[in-house]
Amino acid sequence: MARSGRRIRPSRLGEHEVHQFLTSEESGPHVVSLAGRNDELHLAAKGLGLHNDLQDESSIVGNFPIIPALADYGTAEQKTYIEGIITGKKHLSFGLTEPGHGSDATWLETTGRRDGDDWILNGRKRWNSQVARAHGNLIFARTSGKAGEAKGITAFIVPTGSPGHEILYNHWTFNMPSDHAEVELKNVRVPNSAILHQEGDGLVVAQRFVHENRVRQAAASAGAARYCIQEAVKYANSRVAFGEPLAKKQAVQFPLVELWAEYELVKNFIFRTAWQMDRQNPLEISDMVSICNFRANRLCCEAADRAMQVHGGMGYSRALPFEHIYRHHRRYRITEGTEEVQMRRVAQYLFGFRGKRASHA
Ligand SMILES: Cc1cc2nc3c(=O)[nH]c(=O)nc-3n(C[C@H](O)[C@H](O)[C@H](O)COP(=O)(O)OP(=O)(O)OC[C@H]3O[C@@H](n4cnc5c(N)ncnc54)[C@H](O)[C@@H]3O)c2cc1C
Repeated sequence: MARSGRRIRPSRLGEHEVHQFLTSEESGPHVVSLAGRNDELHLAAKGLGLHNDLQDESSIVGNFPIIPALADYGTAEQKTYIEGIITGKKHLSFGLTEPGHGSDATWLETTGRRDGDDWILNGRKRWNSQVARAHGNLIFARTSGKAGEAKGITAFIVPTGSPGHEILYNHWTFNMPSDHAEVELKNVRVPNSAILHQEGDGLVVAQRFVHENRVRQAAASAGAARYCIQEAVKYANSRVAFGEPLAKKQAVQFPLVELWAEYELVKNFIFRTAWQMDRQNPLEISDMVSICNFRANRLCCEAADRAMQVHGGMGYSRALPFEHIYRHHRRYRITEGTEEVQMRRVAQYLFGFRGKRASHA
């Protein structure tokens, strides 16, 4: 998928221009990848604040992984979600995971059955984040084929007010930027026009979403890691123990050097991957996206943990941001496909397995 058009930094545009940019025929949402990741990393590296508020997971750089999927696969009517998502007036939540199935999404048990021109959905979704404020819930359901097959799963945009669509309760987590619901679907009726992309090809939509989120998380994690390392270095230079600055001790220096080296390597690989995502279908470079994700998220947790250690007792306190950064980024090692799932994807490329890939690459 060749991409042409101007390189624009969406975070510098007004709301209307962002919308025009994201939906223009000429460009398309991929072109924002490198600029967006660069801004994201830079802002996360400045620590916590209104520019990077982990509590709400808000940032000057928008976090809209669903938009590329809508732009690539949505009908004109479905694309109206794009403006709503950018302006905050309309939200679409993402319902793939179920109580019985997370990593093995091809085994999901929610079903969609044809009924004339409509579909009837039944099942249960878990970790359906932000569904409480959503107008639509992107529900993945098996409409054909057998459990374990990638083909046969369809993505439906289900209005959250539909009869039978019910939030049962929320899950409480280590860090809580939003609600994470358990949702029941009981004979929910939607028209055929609710299908996003094509019947039976829903996992392509899911992959498009997670690829975008994986590289976004990676950039945020790399930036936060840089912040943690640099704060630890600053503190080590100023804190005196046993008559000299902590920074003089190799036992303090070397773990920070290891982290810094990893940061430099990971950062450059994220930029390279984002650059490539602007030029081709991201699903063709899944392994690169996965490498960015699991290495950057892990790096951030290790950097936050090290910053806590270097800061001693105060590092563990809530007066300093490291424990919060740790709690937040720890989640990234699970949510967009766990670390093991990212490694599994890399292995598919490395060992030449061509198993269940949503991409047609
Ligand atoms: C805060 C939060 C928000 C979330 N938001 C959403 C959301 O909005 N929408 C949504 O659909 N989902 C969401 N999720 C769900 C998330 O995507 C899943 O938790 C994740 O994919 C893992 O699935 P699971 O929890 O069922 O774990 P499981 O799949 O049961 O995995 C359990 C463990 O087994 C390991 N494992 C599984 N398979 C393999 C394998 N083949 N090889 C090696 N190890 C393996 C996993 O890596 C993991 O360590 C959210 C989760 C959290 C915690």
